Amino acid sequence: MALVFERNFEAPYETLISVATRIRRLLARNPGPFTYKGTGVTVIGERRVAVIDPGPDDPQHLAALRAALEGETVTHIFVTHTHQDHSPAAQALKLWTGAKTYGFGPHGGGGREAGIAVEEGGDRDFVPDIALKDGDVVTANGFAIECVHTPGHLSNHMCYALKEEKALFSGDHVMGWSTSVVAPPEGDMGAYLASLEKLLARDDAVYWPTHGGPIRDPKSLVASYIEHRREREAQILACLNNGLACIPQMVSRIYVGLDPRLTPAAGLTVLAHLIQMAREGRVLAEGQAALGARFRLARQ
Ligand SMILES: [Zn+2]
Repeated sequence: MALVFERNFEAPYETLISVATRIRRLLARNPGPFTYKGTGVTVIGERRVAVIDPGPDDPQHLAALRAALEGETVTHIFVTHTHQDHSPAAQALKLWTGAKTYGFGPHGGGGREAGIAVEEGGDRDFVPDIALKDGDVVTANGFAIECVHTPGHLSNHMCYALKEEKALFSGDHVMGWSTSVVAPPEGDMGAYLASLEKLLARDDAVYWPTHGGPIRDPKSLVASYIEHRREREAQILACLNNGLACIPQMVSRIYVGLDPRLTPAAGLTVLAHLIQMAREGRVLAEGQAALGARFRLARQ
């Protein structure tokens, strides 16, 4: 099964548009290699509304969001995870509206990999007013919003299901335009794969990722994501088998034609696979499993 990306996504910037009966979206003007066209801020309901992923702390975005929500009462602010393009605007939105913030928890405490700047950095300021657990259901303005904890991209990643629309707001866990970055130390490939399997057991009809358009056949996409990760694993094992012991060598062998801006993220994703395979006893690292380490196959 080939992994097919859906990149025919057009939406006006900084305008709240209706995309389903109970769902509106506003696209922030922060396009980039990690954000695609930008952050899609979700608004659920009308007049009394819940917001998911208010977006970046950027003055122009905040002004657009404030103008778009003029005349409505924001009652809940949900955050899928603490990356700069998702959570920071929660603080300003909370100040204007008095609404409480909801999320799994603050950013995980792991340090940054030395010398590597992944553009989509962590928001260390966000602390939810209400800490959510997997399976919690928040009733917001008559809607039931179910929390689906999906660690992997980040340990605090939460998807939200809107039962009335059979819709899952999938954050950065599953996106239609790209695979998700899984960058250690905060990103964890074993957790990511388990969180994909978790979605396969659900019956959501449509996913609304924070970046890009809706995913109308979500289970087949999730299945192809799992297969894609297994193929990556096989490619990394083949590199090791051919004596390529260092992550930069593996990245240039595996990621042919990659946007150079994504090379650090690709290196971290390969590291995430290697860490997971080391846990499973399939791979050995010389010293600590890190970007600069040498790796080899474990003897069976
Ligand atoms: Zn993210």
